[in-house]
Amino acid sequence: MRIIRPISLYNTLTRKIEQISPIIPGEVKVYSCGPTVYNFAHIGNLRTFLFQDLMKRTLLAAGYEVRHCMNITDVEDKIIRDSQVDLPADATNEARHAAMNRLTDRYTVLFLEDLDAMRILRPDVMPKATGHIGQMKILIQNLVDKGLAYAREGSVYFRIAGFPNYGCLAHLDREGMQSGASMDADEYDKDHAQDFVLWKAAKTGEPTWDSAWGPGRPGWHIECSAMGIELLGGHVDIHTGGVDLIFPHHENEIAQSEGALGHPWVSMWVHGEFLMVEGEKMSKSLGNFYTLRDLVEKGINPITFRYAIQSNHYRKLLNFSFEGLKAADNSLKRIRAFRKRMEEDGAQAGGGTWKEALDPVQRLEKARIAFWEAMADDLNTPEALAALFTLISDLNAQDDRIALTREERDAVLGFLDETDSIFAAWPHESPMDVLASVTGLPATAVLGGVSVSMAEILSPERIQSLIAARQAARDARNWAESDRLRDQLKAMGIVLEDRKDGTVGWRRA
Ligand code: AMP
Ligand code: ZN
Repeated sequence: MRIIRPISLYNTLTRKIEQISPIIPGEVKVYSCGPTVYNFAHIGNLRTFLFQDLMKRTLLAAGYEVRHCMNITDVEDKIIRDSQVDLPADATNEARHAAMNRLTDRYTVLFLEDLDAMRILRPDVMPKATGHIGQMKILIQNLVDKGLAYAREGSVYFRIAGFPNYGCLAHLDREGMQSGASMDADEYDKDHAQDFVLWKAAKTGEPTWDSAWGPGRPGWHIECSAMGIELLGGHVDIHTGGVDLIFPHHENEIAQSEGALGHPWVSMWVHGEFLMVEGEKMSKSLGNFYTLRDLVEKGINPITFRYAIQSNHYRKLLNFSFEGLKAADNSLKRIRAFRKRMEEDGAQAGGGTWKEALDPVQRLEKARIAFWEAMADDLNTPEALAALFTLISDLNAQDDRIALTREERDAVLGFLDETDSIFAAWPHESPMDVLASVTGLPATAVLGGVSVSMAEILSPERIQSLIAARQAARDARNWAESDRLRDQLKAMGIVLEDRKDGTVGWRRA
């Protein structure tokens, strides 16, 4: 019989740490809100995906089976904004769809590269929103039929007054909420408690789909409800995302899904805290972000970044710093050196006696118990790693005096493998060239079987940051570096134009 360790997680719905108890014993269905693929994920986004991977790997190591669905948001306001800029006003709907798909396909591939580089296990299913428009329309119609949604001028809105449970996740005070106004926006950082859009009527210059309410496109929130119900069924054990998604996105997902299903949909809502930079949230709109590729350019291994994130508790705000990455690197070196020591045979017959020596196998059991107690208690990684480091110090000291036997060493290696199945950071680093578009790498990348130039993949922000780095090198009269950056941009298909007034322009070659 399979032995499963009980694991507890903080449930945002109840505001309590609860033991997970999947509807089908031993099998956990997990839905994660995936990336919006119009640009590189920044490392704040990646923190959220790393927390999800930590949770999933812990469940797997604890003996559960996990069915993990993570969507790809490939139709949404910002995607449309960025993908349609170069199209003529009279572009056909087909051309608009094609332009949108080109952008989202590229960034989907680059996102998957990021996951692989950080050893994030690929989800079992990764549905694209555009592949589930039919299910979204059915879900919306279901809500209209139940009186929970209404059409207005080609758009459809969810009527929150019809769903008394609205606010249960974010713990909103219903009395204090405004009602009646419809918001035609699904930017998740806007704090509106009003009826929200399910289907958006066609606007000039946007790709559209036909529907019973006229041409239009889905709102962001309905995408996850439709894909979740389609691919995981009418019940999800754990739904995850970053804390910014609690309201309105997840609140709206509950309203849509439970409104349509007529019963509770998700048992546990688990949210990861934000990654900060100098006290501010890392975000694309603030422009204060790094991508994984930026870190790799600075010589930081993706696995070091993984460890730096995972050695902190997922529900605590974390300030990003290069010192933090250095500390992570040192910790990893220590674990890997210990692992190497355990792989090798001990010194002949040991160097003497040590009265206080605990039996290494006892020490190991103590560490294993402490490690699992911490992980089972809402993924308390700092404490779990402390148990591992205590073991390392004790056994190193003991091995100096009385060499561990081969059997003892193998038992320790077994524990290192067990912990690595969660942290995925020892014994190895990630090969540095896993990210195709890292500095200095080829000017083209093969995406979805098609070779495309890096210029098409690079975002304007990314180009600007390389230009700024070159400018900084010039200011510092570091000509070798400034030439290298110019050549790098050239290899990526970006031509720089040094203007008379000292500014630098650029164009795609
Ligand atoms: P997006 O690609 O914008 O849809 O975001 C993907 C995920 O990243 C979502 O789950 C967000 O909650 C999460 N996220 C966005 N910014 C941050 C941040 N600074 N730190 C941690 N997670 C974030
Ligand atoms: Zn979602």
